[in-house]
Amino acid sequence: MVLEADIKAQLNQYLELIENDIVLKVSTGSDDVSKEMLALVEELASMSSKISYEEAELERTPSFRVNRVGEDTGVTFAGIPLGHEFTSLVLALLQVSGRAPKVDQHVIDQVKNIQGDYHFESFISLSCHNCPDVVQALNMMSILNPRISHTMIDGAAYKEEVEAKNIMAVPTVHLNGEPFSSGRMTLEEILAQLGSAPDASEFEDKDPYDVLVVGGGPAGASAAIYAARKGIRTGIVAERFGGQVLDTMSIENFISVKQTEGPKLVASLEEHVKDYGIDVMNLQRASSLEKKDLFELELENGAVLKSKSVIISTGARWRNVNVPGEQELKNKGVAYCPHCDGPLFEGRDVAVIGGGNSGIEAAIDLAGIVKHVTVLEFLPELKADKVLQDRLNSLPNVTVLKNVQTKEITGTDNVNGITYVERDTEEEKHIELQGVFVQIGLVPNTEWLHDTVERTRIGEIVVDKKGSTNIPGLFAAGDCTDSPYNQIIISMGSGANASLGAFDYLIRN
Ligand SMILES: Cc1cc2nc3c(=O)[nH]c(=O)nc-3n(C[C@H](O)[C@H](O)[C@H](O)COP(=O)(O)OP(=O)(O)OC[C@H]3O[C@@H](n4cnc5c(N)ncnc54)[C@H](O)[C@@H]3O)c2cc1C
Repeated sequence: MVLEADIKAQLNQYLELIENDIVLKVSTGSDDVSKEMLALVEELASMSSKISYEEAELERTPSFRVNRVGEDTGVTFAGIPLGHEFTSLVLALLQVSGRAPKVDQHVIDQVKNIQGDYHFESFISLSCHNCPDVVQALNMMSILNPRISHTMIDGAAYKEEVEAKNIMAVPTVHLNGEPFSSGRMTLEEILAQLGSAPDASEFEDKDPYDVLVVGGGPAGASAAIYAARKGIRTGIVAERFGGQVLDTMSIENFISVKQTEGPKLVASLEEHVKDYGIDVMNLQRASSLEKKDLFELELENGAVLKSKSVIISTGARWRNVNVPGEQELKNKGVAYCPHCDGPLFEGRDVAVIGGGNSGIEAAIDLAGIVKHVTVLEFLPELKADKVLQDRLNSLPNVTVLKNVQTKEITGTDNVNGITYVERDTEEEKHIELQGVFVQIGLVPNTEWLHDTVERTRIGEIVVDKKGSTNIPGLFAAGDCTDSPYNQIIISMGSGANASLGAFDYLIRN
């Protein structure tokens, strides 16, 4: 039996929702993964009279394809979709059987209207929490459009292929054999990259807003909901709805919810926002803001949106270490998400740059997977909490270098080492290793505002108790402000606060 009892019980409930017959075409050999895959397929077939399976010759062995009777959907799993991919398996079974995917009709139409032949391959790891979204979006596209196909490839089952293709970050997606994307992507983002995103003309006739929120993380979502609940015209422009929460694995400090996962919380935020008829303009990046009679927000696609008040909640992003090699070797050994990319460095030597909480958590996490971790901290002491430092010090395969400055990440095709300077002796040293995880904090996404609004030396927008900036009618909330602490619950609170501030401004003006 491949499936554990509790998983099997869950699956049983889902399989009852299957609408039409499904055929699993399976290509297996004599290796262990093949045996496990065949056992899984047999078990699935034994659980539902609507599922059958047959042996087939597929491009990769081991792999299996989820088909309708007499119709190839192109949805293939090269690897065993358990772990984080279990949901991808369940959704593939249900959607291939005829159940409609839970996305807006206009998105479904967009996928169906894609012309051309597209074969996607997604390289994933079963421990990657960013991978299922990509796998599920590509599967959905394959199911909806017969000219699209998708194969999920588990890097652990296809080590040689992953190495040959030089894949050092998951999820990595190839389209028709060429690199297409790396990192988490939603269906809408994939569509935008394929060139089917809305252009400026779709924004031309929009009436001015009462409140226009820029940024769709927890701060922006909360600000928009508070505004819309006042019955005023509200819009959100977001480069990527969900913000940092999309990259967060486990959340245990969102008060009243004991434990959740980032993408799950983002789905709830989206549902809540949509409940209020807020105009959500996702995958749109703001490029400048000007105050005339009304505020005028220009988007990168050239469209200009007008509003009586604006709340900026553009959050923050990973800080780069800005040394030679970092940009050139991104996804070729330079990584930012230990939860996602750690498994690709199994048995190798890696460095973590940064000795704060996130750096030390990353080092502890990686030490369980990789051969050796070197932590590089610029200051003479680590800044992480003592409990984390104690845990780190108890690990046999970690070296901590304090008071060192990273000079260069070296390598041509892939990372092969890191060069640093000991700050007290000024001696330059080099370590050979294959991966570098950069964990040196965050930088606010506010460069696009230039001098429009007062910002601190490090770019945070200066706000008062009501979330007001130095420009009347312009408010800000969340990680992009000079608030001392960056947390989901704090961002949501400050979004609500700024929104009430904006409403107050509107009724007085
Ligand atoms: C790996 C990780 C783990 C974390 N874990 C936790 C945790 O367990 N608990 C906790 O409370 N906090 C956690 N945090 C912190 C928390 O996620 C942030 O404090 C919170 O998301 C900040 O919300 P925000 O809305 O201010 O910004 P963000 O979440 O950064 O959202 C910013 C939004 O603005 C958009 N945007 C940016 N620039 C533009 C532009 N020019 N135009 C349009 N839109 C733009 C982005 O696409 C996004 O939609 C974690 C953060 C990270 C990175």
